[in-house]
Amino acid sequence: MEISMQKIREFHRQSIQDREGFWAREARRIHWETPWSKVLDDSRLPFARWFVGGRTNLCYNAVDRWLDTQADQPALIWVSTETDQEIVYTWAELAREVQVAAAMLQSLGVVQGDRVLIYLPMIPQAAFIMLACARLGAIHSVVFGGFAAHNLAQRIDDAQPGVVVSTDAGSRGGRPIAYKPLLDQALSQSVHQPDHVLLVDRGLVPMSLQAGRDLDYATLRARHLDVQVPVVWLESNEPSYILYTSGTTGNPKGVQRDVGGYAVALCASMEYIFGGKPGDTYFSTSDIGWVVGHSYVVYGPLLNGQATVMYEGTPIRPDAAILWRIIETHRVNALFSAPTAIRVLKKHDPALLTRHDLSSLDRIYLAGEPLDELTGQWLSEALNKPVIDNYWQTETGWPILSAQPGVEEVPTRYGSPTFPVYGFDVRVVSEASGLDSGPNEKGVVAIEPPLPPGAMSTIWRNDERFVTTYFESFPGRQTYSTSDWGRVDDDGYWFILGRTDDVINVAGHRLGTREIEESVNTHPAVAESAVVGVADPIKGQQAVGFAVLRDSALLDAPDGRTRLEAEIKKVVEQRNGAVARPSRILFVGSLPKTRSGKVLRRAIVALCEGRDPGDLTAVEDPSALEQIRGVL
Ligand code: ATP
Ligand code: MG
Repeated sequence: MEISMQKIREFHRQSIQDREGFWAREARRIHWETPWSKVLDDSRLPFARWFVGGRTNLCYNAVDRWLDTQADQPALIWVSTETDQEIVYTWAELAREVQVAAAMLQSLGVVQGDRVLIYLPMIPQAAFIMLACARLGAIHSVVFGGFAAHNLAQRIDDAQPGVVVSTDAGSRGGRPIAYKPLLDQALSQSVHQPDHVLLVDRGLVPMSLQAGRDLDYATLRARHLDVQVPVVWLESNEPSYILYTSGTTGNPKGVQRDVGGYAVALCASMEYIFGGKPGDTYFSTSDIGWVVGHSYVVYGPLLNGQATVMYEGTPIRPDAAILWRIIETHRVNALFSAPTAIRVLKKHDPALLTRHDLSSLDRIYLAGEPLDELTGQWLSEALNKPVIDNYWQTETGWPILSAQPGVEEVPTRYGSPTFPVYGFDVRVVSEASGLDSGPNEKGVVAIEPPLPPGAMSTIWRNDERFVTTYFESFPGRQTYSTSDWGRVDDDGYWFILGRTDDVINVAGHRLGTREIEESVNTHPAVAESAVVGVADPIKGQQAVGFAVLRDSALLDAPDGRTRLEAEIKKVVEQRNGAVARPSRILFVGSLPKTRSGKVLRRAIVALCEGRDPGDLTAVEDPSALEQIRGVL
């Protein structure tokens, strides 16, 4: 085992010690219209610029580049078990739809640098518009369809899109979920107003169009058939997209990505991490509203000439074999999903796992939350396939810690995403001293700048927030903090031990507890609140709220407690979407806080989960914790 891990370690070492040499070699994977003059400009750390002066285009590399060799092979395989549709777009057909979409956007006045906000479910038009934006040098910002009006309005005001692309409805569990009324509501709340709203009419629910502003996708498409839109060659460091994180501070961060670095990093990751090659088929179950959807539904596979499966549906409908059926039908080589999806499958008949021919499938990748040992082992043994836990963030754009079978096969260990990925100089750092921690010592997982190609370049229009949010966590050291705890064992295997911040993960959806708290606090009866994520065997976590009322006498009224609880849940649902709805709202007289006024969420979570709340020396009023214990 010692000897077998030499290669992966050496590969990583090279990527850090000779950054420029390493990435110059990897950059040959993509087409550059104009070569770069410098691989890395690290003169203004923590800002890093990759492939300075080079000109390229994400859409050209993801689409046009493959037309000579594989025009008639599948490129985008769309499967919807929601509407019982399946469409396979070849590379030629994908190229055509992207050209048309680009012409449509151009006709609406979209030019390089403009923002286009995409509020769509998992339908092919979402990918067409993303790639069309990339072609034009317009900056897309995809907002997850599960977000409600308030979240959407915030993102519209921050990104200030000239065009918003949306639809009549998504669908979940076979039932349509209207999008247009939410969008209209968001636009009535936002200060910024787009010039145009482009609407894909799926015929799922009736929708009303606002004359002058709202346009029908199919009608506009018909006017631009067979138009050729030239590629806009962009300097490598121009922004390609903005993707908002869930937003712990209540004000989501617009993660800004570049063009050239992202193309190179993703293309390389398809081979080294995901073991893929042109002509293979890749299937990520992520929604396009999340970073995995950007990197591994749309860009990554296509940049490497691989077909991508875009799936609208759940893992259990029409039955819990659907993922495996898709893999069999389309000869999928790699599946990327989340532990929560697998935990859902675990509740169903295990025979469903072996009903289909999975001989095409090499490996399964899971990310987004800790992969518990039981789930990982259950899946791996049931399918007799390697299951690879990979750890990363919206900010990094691609995995930080992962097995890299395209570099070298190494033994994996359940509960560990194994080793640092090439390009990431990952450390475990002591929060108190700012020094690297030793083997087996818990600390914060941190990355020494420069961040590698493909990672975020900054926060949209807020360089200062980029520095203060990510690079000021450790005394005397400007190192990127992931805000996750971690540890490295004696053999060099990494373990992620949870978050230092307050984001929760409900069934694969990332929610900022602060955003939910803000919504709870809008209820007129509420003085303040704390929302925490409590472990849930199926969903990963569920939101539980603790509210302090302005007038506790309200609870004495008949049904007072139940009525208030229902009202508060409703407010959250309206503002943050149904996934954010807390499972319980409990009423207390005060919240446990530190002397500096920070709510002790970790202690509350511990109590909710029946664990020891740990060191409470910092608590201002210990009786507040007793109250929490009491209401539970
Ligand atoms: P925000 O940054 O707005 O607060 P978020 O951190 O929930 O939101 P993401 O960037 O999508 O949004 O999630 C990244 C986080 O998910 C990581 O920092 C980590 O906490 C968790 N995570 C991702 N993959 C893994 C994994 N394989 N094992 C453990 N945790 C993981
Ligand atoms: Mg985060």
